[in-house]
Amino acid sequence: MDIPRIFNITESAHRIHNPFTPDKYATLGAALRLSAGARVLDLGSGSGEMLCTWARDHGIVGTGIDMSPLFTAQAQSRAVELGVAGQVSFIHGDAAGHVADEKVDVAACIGASWIAGGVAGTIALLAQSLRPGGIILIGEPYWRQLPPSDEVARQCLAHTVADFLTLPELVSSFGNLGHDVVEMVLANPDGWDRYEAAKWLTMRRWLQANPNDELASEVRTQLTTEPLRHVTYTREYLGWGVFALMAR
Ligand code: SAH
Repeated sequence: MDIPRIFNITESAHRIHNPFTPDKYATLGAALRLSAGARVLDLGSGSGEMLCTWARDHGIVGTGIDMSPLFTAQAQSRAVELGVAGQVSFIHGDAAGHVADEKVDVAACIGASWIAGGVAGTIALLAQSLRPGGIILIGEPYWRQLPPSDEVARQCLAHTVADFLTLPELVSSFGNLGHDVVEMVLANPDGWDRYEAAKWLTMRRWLQANPNDELASEVRTQLTTEPLRHVTYTREYLGWGVFALMAR
């Protein structure tokens, strides 16, 4: 069981697989007023940076589930590196339908809401693992500027303009789903650069080391076109943030 190999190549050197930077996860962890021993579930935990740093900085305990064996192994190494392997565990698996055995204080899905078919489905899934009064975290893109056409939306790697909401629409959608927005931390264009631009050096070095790989021509095309696509489209049009929700 794995995600498409192209992501394991282009994001192999990422600690954070979204436009958040370490300071944003630190701000979010402080904003949530986490107490030592708080239980956190993370669906689509990637390389585990959120759980590992919050375990180190706030004493949380947690479980992450991710479909990429590579990212899961990186998360396990990071936990050892930060001295928190006794507090957090990372499971390789499909997070679709995953419900925790023991209810958690914080249930998160940061940049992987397709796991449960979108934001509404993800909130419903996370709610099944949450103790009463617990907090749900959703990381999601939104339009900073509405694209003038579906073609521009496609250049932002959406299918159509309707794939994402504006920030006011996204915030009001959480209310329509019966949740209070109790905190939020937003990424910024520099964070998008950390996520997108970090892929370019990884791709360049991978190409040098793997010139005959079956994905070499795809990676070559991406390396040639991605910097211009990123600065023209994603960096200008797409926002991204993590929203903390509590059921009304
Ligand atoms: N939350 C992480 C990673 C976000 S990227 C971070 O902040 O860095 C999305 C992640 O979802 C990737 O790590 C990918 O491997 C994982 N993923 C995709 N489909 C999944 C599924 N069905 N079950 C579990 N993880 C999945």
